[in-house]
Formats: sequence, structure tokens, C-alpha cells
Amino acid sequence: MSREEHEDLNKIQSFLSNLDGIQVFVISRDGFPIIFGRELDQESAEAYTALSVDLILASQEALKDINEHGSKNIIVELDKNVVINVHQLNSILLTIKGDRRIVPITDKNILNYINKNNIKCPYCGYELTLEVYKCPKCGKRIPFTSSTCPYCGYNVNIKQCPKCKKLISSDGRKVKLVRSREARELSILEGLTAAVATGAVSFILSNSVPIGAITGLIAGGIVAYLIYSRAGLEYKIED
Ligand SMILES: [Zn+2]
Ligand SMILES: [Zn+2]
Repeated sequence: MSREEHEDLNKIQSFLSNLDGIQVFVISRDGFPIIFGRELDQESAEAYTALSVDLILASQEALKDINEHGSKNIIVELDKNVVINVHQLNSILLTIKGDRRIVPITDKNILNYINKNNIKCPYCGYELTLEVYKCPKCGKRIPFTSSTCPYCGYNVNIKQCPKCKKLISSDGRKVKLVRSREARELSILEGLTAAVATGAVSFILSNSVPIGAITGLIAGGIVAYLIYSRAGLEYKIED
């Protein structure tokens, strides 16, 4: 095993160990477990590997009469909430057991990482594919690249890069805080309304056109500024 491959496996192992909802994982090559975790011993890791090999072989066997090649990705539902996901990547078999809401996402991220389809921070280049993120609403640890929390559905598309702390989207795009068009239009409209109203009142009270105009302008300006500065800030994800 090359040094680079060894580091990759360590990263995958730490990713799987730090996520909520993963009960068991094994990565095996040619039928032998090379990494495994979540309180699994060697014997159980070998049993899971044997099960995964059997599942892949069974799918090939089951489909051979209709000239299909069998599946490289098999999901077995153990009960309503728990699945076993087996993914074959050449000589490697990836087996993950856990909550059905997180297992397929996790499998996809590992596949992207192995295939070098990495999501990176657009500012500092930090690799995000195997990064773990804590949902601010339910507190579950989920993949950083998820745009919504698989557990509570909370929108987590915009978040800080763990390294440079800049705001980015879950798929690695820059995010800017911009004033919405509605806020700009509203501030102009409300500002004009306030200017006319205040101008009219102070003209009536003072019976003077210059005083009415000046107070109207000042009031309109203040109202427009307050609305513009306080309302309508929104995040915009760059293309
Ligand atoms: Zn959540
Ligand atoms: Zn960054």
C-alpha cells in the first residue's frame, strides 16, 4: 500500500468515525478487511466482508440468466431505519451499516473522494469532501458537503470553511452578503413617502416652503437609510 493510499484510508476512517448514525464500517480489499471501525473487532470485520462479497456475488448470480452483470452498489434494508450499503470499487469493497438517512450520502462522499472529485474551498483550497459538520439545529454530525441536514431537514447550504472561516456553499462556491433588490426599492419608496409627509406637515405648521422642504428631505433620507441598512441582507452564492 502506498503512503498516499494509506493517508487516504486514514482520512476515510476518521470521516466515518466522526459521523452520527454510522454503526459499522469496513473497507476490504480482495476479501480482507483493511480498515474498520465503530467498535468492530477483526472477527466481525471479516464477517461483514464475507457478507459483502456474498451480496455482490449473489446479485451477479441472480441477474446472469437475463444477461445483466450484477450491481456494484447494493443496499440492504435491515429494518425501517437501518441499512447496510455495499459498494464495490474495483478490488475494494466498502461496507457501511447505519441510519438510512446518512449511509447513502456517506457512501457517495467516499466514492467522490476516491475518484478525486473533491469539493474544495474556493478561497484556501481546503478539501471538504471528507469534512464533518455539526448541524446547528439538531446537533448531529453530518457531512460538510450536505446542503440540508439529513436528520432534521435544516438548510445548511451556507457555512464557514473550517480552515479559512470564509463563507462558502456546501458544493464549494463563494458566498457574498448582498443587499436584496426588494430592500433597495422599499427604502426609496418609503423614503419618498416620509419626505412628502414630513414636508407637508412642517409646511402646514410653519407656513414656510423652505422649512417644509428641508425637514421633508431630512426625514425621507433618514427613513430610507434606516430601511436600507437594516433590511434585506441576503446571502448570494456565486456561480
Ligand atoms: Zn439537523
Ligand atoms: Zn477556506
